[in-house]
Amino acid sequence: MTGHAATVAGLLDVATDRVGRALGLDKREARLEARVLAAHAWQVTPAWLIAHDTDVATAPQTAAFDALLARRLGGEPIAYIVGAREFYGRRFEVSPAVLIPRPETELLVELALARIPPDETTTVLDLGTGSGCIAITLALERSRARVTAVERSPAALALARRNAQTLGASVEFSAGDWFSDLTGRSYDLIVANPPYIADADPHLARGDLRHEPVAALASGADGLDELRRLIDGARDHLRRPGMLLLEHGYDQADAVHALLRSGGFARPRCWHDLAGNPRVSGAELSK
Ligand code: GLN
Repeated sequence: MTGHAATVAGLLDVATDRVGRALGLDKREARLEARVLAAHAWQVTPAWLIAHDTDVATAPQTAAFDALLARRLGGEPIAYIVGAREFYGRRFEVSPAVLIPRPETELLVELALARIPPDETTTVLDLGTGSGCIAITLALERSRARVTAVERSPAALALARRNAQTLGASVEFSAGDWFSDLTGRSYDLIVANPPYIADADPHLARGDLRHEPVAALASGADGLDELRRLIDGARDHLRRPGMLLLEHGYDQADAVHALLRSGGFARPRCWHDLAGNPRVSGAELSK
């Protein structure tokens, strides 16, 4: 790239510019990404990078960094390159087999936690667990909760199990398509962040989404196919009053509330994410 040996700080500066321009990130985000890539390439901490910024990078260091940088410049999500993403203060392993955990989903976790008393045994079901981020967080934050997580993709299920083990969470995992393997079982609380993007939505062809499993994102012509199936099935698997909490698209709250009402749920409510978008809806079964 530079043709002569560069310092650590010099490499990071060049990478910051390139990442910023290629991905349309502001300087602060681009610098953060450059640091994350370098730390991963060299297996060092962010503090090491600061302490060693005037060191001249070795040829192998430069090559390892350039290889990761090229992947990022090609649009690969940084979480897949480093193999991890932070969620609710914990590090989750991720791979292209799972959706990358999103900060919006922390809202769903907060709402669920508010409904799981710390000192009681509550049964909780997380449908479509992906990386396991929701189920594992709930299990770790509420040691008395009994958390079950369902996932139909074997690769995702294996990864979720690994995350639970690494993080020391006790979660019962089950392979299945929503409720297919849960005949006769019911829960106090059911949560899900299902696929909710319309099949033809151009966002699927942009940014990180291009690289994520389409089955975790897309859900029919109006994006509501899986939410419909889920709301349909939930009724038979909730203990009364039982609560269903669902993440959905910013423009789907009205449609989801209509589905909830016709599915036998009372007084649906909606909560907004930090960006101010309606993001999670919930309701209890009507009497
Ligand atoms: N439950 C996982 C998450 O929230 C996966 C969701 C999905 O694949 N749609 O990240």
